[in-house]
Formats: sequence, structure tokens, C-alpha cells
Amino acid sequence: MKLKDLGEFGFIDRIAERVAPAADVPLGIGDDAAALIPAAGEHTLVTSDLLAEGIHFDRAFTDPYRLGRKSLSVNLSDIAAMGGRPRHALLSLAVPKDIDLAFLDDFTKGFLAVADEHNVILVGGDTCAARTDFVVSVTLFGAQSPEKIVTRKGARPGDLICVTGHLGDSSFGLEELRRGTVHGPAVERHLNPAARVDAGLLLAERQIPTAMIDVSDGLAADLGHIAEQSSVGAIIRTAELPLSPHILTKAAAVGKDAVTLALSGGEDYELLFTIPADAAGLLPEVAAALSLPITVIGTIIDGSGVVALDAAGNPFVPQRCGFDHFSQSS
Ligand code: ADP
Ligand code: MG
Repeated sequence: MKLKDLGEFGFIDRIAERVAPAADVPLGIGDDAAALIPAAGEHTLVTSDLLAEGIHFDRAFTDPYRLGRKSLSVNLSDIAAMGGRPRHALLSLAVPKDIDLAFLDDFTKGFLAVADEHNVILVGGDTCAARTDFVVSVTLFGAQSPEKIVTRKGARPGDLICVTGHLGDSSFGLEELRRGTVHGPAVERHLNPAARVDAGLLLAERQIPTAMIDVSDGLAADLGHIAEQSSVGAIIRTAELPLSPHILTKAAAVGKDAVTLALSGGEDYELLFTIPADAAGLLPEVAAALSLPITVIGTIIDGSGVVALDAAGNPFVPQRCGFDHFSQSS
């Protein structure tokens, strides 16, 4: 069955049926606009990410369920990086006429599963036909008290640079997919990244970070954004980078360097944040509460730019391979 057999409104009804009513959504899917009750005393955080077939994903590599999950997760990651609590989402789809309804159903299931996991309510969106490529645009609203929102601007010389989880797996997973590997921890990280929502919230609630960003473009590029916006420099000690057992054992065999993957690969969706040096003692209990490793990987310094130190302590400028859609090289 294709979308044309069901029609746009039949399809929207199918989505609406799967969304439970919520107290803070007096009007959800079905009217010209949704009505939402704002979170008292908090600011609204809002972010949007678009995933386009052929640019962000390949329908040959990803199944619709995981694509649905990822399309919300990448937005959750942005709210997490502000220390926010995700609340409401809009889902807009451009759908090629040849796509099976089963594909859309699985996509929606994946999206709504992640929404449920994070108490996010789907409150609307838009659906239109496309010629060839499937395009997904998600807008996510969140909330946080103004004094707890964490920006990219607050890093200070002497601060420690910290990161959650492991780095480099997602870009290695993409490499494995291109080589025909369809299963494994790195492939899963690429196709189905987990947004660190609980980590962002806990760090913000405790007001530990001075600055925070999610690692979407790659560590060097995203740390560069913190450095620029905070008017500081950053040093990464590559010997400290949290590398997964998977890339430590598999990367070299296909000519990939695990440290380079961690520095320059994108889409890890871990949280990268800075903390005052005297807050380091708080990290073990935060990591334990989250069941998530948190690793200190470097230091903020006076100056500008991002410098990495190799295992012998020699400085080098890490490549920024983060995806720039409009740069000459991409
Ligand atoms: P309008 O023509 O006023 O834009 P639509 O027919 O596009 O209205 O949408 C009708 C309702 O369905 C609206 O509440 C809209 O937010 C919702 N909607 C449309 N597409 C989606 C989608 N892909 N996911 C969730 N809600 C959707
Ligand atoms: Mg519309």
C-alpha cells in the first residue's frame, strides 16, 4: 500500500491515533495549529533539524524504524546540550510517491518510540509529496529555568573539557556500512544514536557546566564552536580520549586511526562541556548516577583555536571534518 491509497489525511489520522493526550497540550494534531501550555517560570528552548535523503542518510543503509528514531534523537541532542527538558515536537515529511506505507509506519513507530522514552508529545507537523527524496524536518520544543540553560559561551581559561560516552564510533559505523557491515555497536551508534538527555538535564540542574554543546560535527569542530563563542582556546590530550573497545580493535584493520575518528568524525551526539577545575570532584558521582562514562579530555586556555597533543605531548591542529554542507570540499 502506498501513501496515495490512504491519502494525506488518512496518514495524519494514523499518526494522531498513536499519540496519547497530554495535560500540557490542550490542542494537538488536527487543528490549524497546536495549543501548548508553557512551563511556568521557564524559558522555551526550540530547535530544528532536517534530514534529507542522499545528504544525511541513505535509504539503502538505514531501516525506517531507526531513521524515525534518529530524526527525533538528533533534535533531543540539541535540547540536551542546552541542559533542557524536551517537551513537544513537530514532524514534517516530504514523501516520495513510491514509498510504501509500511516504510512510513515503521518510521513513525521509531519516531514515537523515542518520543515516549523522553516524554515528548508530537503536537503537529506537515506532510507533502516529494519527487524522489524522502525529507524529514523535526522541530523540538523544550524548557529550562533561565539560570540553568547552558550555552556555548561560558568557558573560561582553566576550565576542564569533558565529554560523555565514547567518541568516533558513529563515523566508524558509517565506514563499516559503506564496507558492507550491517551490524555491530558502531553501526548501531551511527543509525540509532542515543541523545544524552538525562546527562544534559542533570548537569544543568546541578549547574556544573560553564559551556556545553553536543558532538554532531566532530569533537574538534564542536570544541571550536565553544572556543570561538567563549573567546578562549582549547587543548585536547588525545591520550585521554574515550575510545570504545570496538574502534580500538577494528579501526586500524581498515586503515582508520581511532584518535582521528574521535577528533574529526561526526554524529556521536555525546555532550561536550566545560567545568571549573574545582568541580572535577563532582564528575564521578554524576557519571555513576547516569551510568555513563564522563572523561576529562583537556583544558581551556587563554587565546583561540583548538590544539591537540599527541601521546608524546607534541601539539598538532586536528582536522575539522565536521560536515559543512556549503564548504568547497564537501
Ligand atoms: P494545514 O493545511 O492547516 O497546514 P494540515 O492538513 O497540513 O493542515 O495538517 C492537519 C493537522 O495534521 C495539523 O494539526 C498538522 O499539525 C498535523 N500534521 C500534518 N502532518 C503531520 C505529521 N507528519 N506529523 C504530525 N502531525 C501532522
Ligand atoms: Mg499543513
